[in-house]
Amino acid sequence: MNLNEYQAKRLFGKFGVPVPEGDVATTPEEARKIAERIGGTVVVKAQVLTGGRGKAGGVKLAHSPEEAEARASEILGMDIKGLTVHKVLIDPGADIAKEIYLAVLVDRAARQPMIMASAEGGVDIEAVAEETPEKIIKVHINPVVGLKRYHSIEVASRMGLDASMWGKFHTVLAGLYDCFIGTDAMLTEINPLIITGSDEFEAIDGKMTLDDNALDRHPDLAAMRDPGERTANEERAAEAGINYIQLDGNIGCMVNGAGLAMTSMDVINYFGGEPANFLDIGGGAKAEAVTAALNIILGDDNVQAVLINIFGGITRCDEVARGILEALDNIDTDVPFVVRLEGTNAAEGRAILEEANMPTAVTLSDAAEKAVAAAKEYAASA
Ligand code: GDP
Ligand code: MN
Repeated sequence: MNLNEYQAKRLFGKFGVPVPEGDVATTPEEARKIAERIGGTVVVKAQVLTGGRGKAGGVKLAHSPEEAEARASEILGMDIKGLTVHKVLIDPGADIAKEIYLAVLVDRAARQPMIMASAEGGVDIEAVAEETPEKIIKVHINPVVGLKRYHSIEVASRMGLDASMWGKFHTVLAGLYDCFIGTDAMLTEINPLIITGSDEFEAIDGKMTLDDNALDRHPDLAAMRDPGERTANEERAAEAGINYIQLDGNIGCMVNGAGLAMTSMDVINYFGGEPANFLDIGGGAKAEAVTAALNIILGDDNVQAVLINIFGGITRCDEVARGILEALDNIDTDVPFVVRLEGTNAAEGRAILEEANMPTAVTLSDAAEKAVAAAKEYAASA
């Protein structure tokens, strides 16, 4: 789960990272009132869960409350990378002498938290990482030992910060690290962390990714979820306990097992099709789960064929076949289906489906090819 900038910065602030004292508005009038209260120049910032807002025109300076209202009315409702802006953050305008990149993230390969930092932070950090990777500093933290002052000094000195700034830098980094650990985050990122004209640090942008598997320990953080983050279908899937990610293609997939689901998507690609989703229905596939999954898949208007790929282990294919037919009794659709059953009782399962005139397949490539063809035919007839 990702947090918006204003949420991330509020959390950073609680852990001792210096952040601007801004506030969030959902209307231009609210934006004006906040700007009045702050006084002077403010920055109006789109709150959507994507990067590159500055380059997309979602970060604008305003020199008066009236101007803040005008900028807010331009930014509210704006579309940034497919997401609609419903909220703007009004922060005091920053006095930027230098922009630094600073993050703590999980390095899965090293099985440790890692600090990532660069003296060349700001909106072009991706280009810095791509073209001059030596300018990105990486330092691992043994989580048992935790972050020590020598870690901060290593990062600060390698970035070329003046030694007079190292103490303040440690406060920022220690706060960011404590926030990372304390919220069970996967990523806490500040870009840019600025040094002001009076040599103070301030986090003027913030990004956080929380570990979904740890949210049960943080009901207060779970409640911060941005409803704009998940599509309506993803929301329904989460409620049904199904692993589902909506994609852009037209072939709906229902598969048992995450690895098999990934493979099915690859094979659909191989035959020239595009999967509409990733869906792992998990172990077993009782009618109830199949019904929920199919309703979610068919709730996506782009779906023009459904590929069901089940590998029976403990799950028996005949049971799955009955589950599919039972589910389809309750679903009204003319979208074509192709079912591939393999493993325990596969022949019995296929016989049940064939009796009901449901197209079946033995191999995954056969099933994927049939699904791609069925989608084309469906599209042509629609
Ligand atoms: P992002 O584009 O989504 O990463 O949004 P940021 O919050 O990082 O803003 C992008 C850029 O806008 C920053 O790198 C700064 O250069 C600039 N910026 C952000 N806030 C201010 C501000 O208060 N004053 C000034 N002058 N520039 C700002
Ligand atoms: Mn940024």
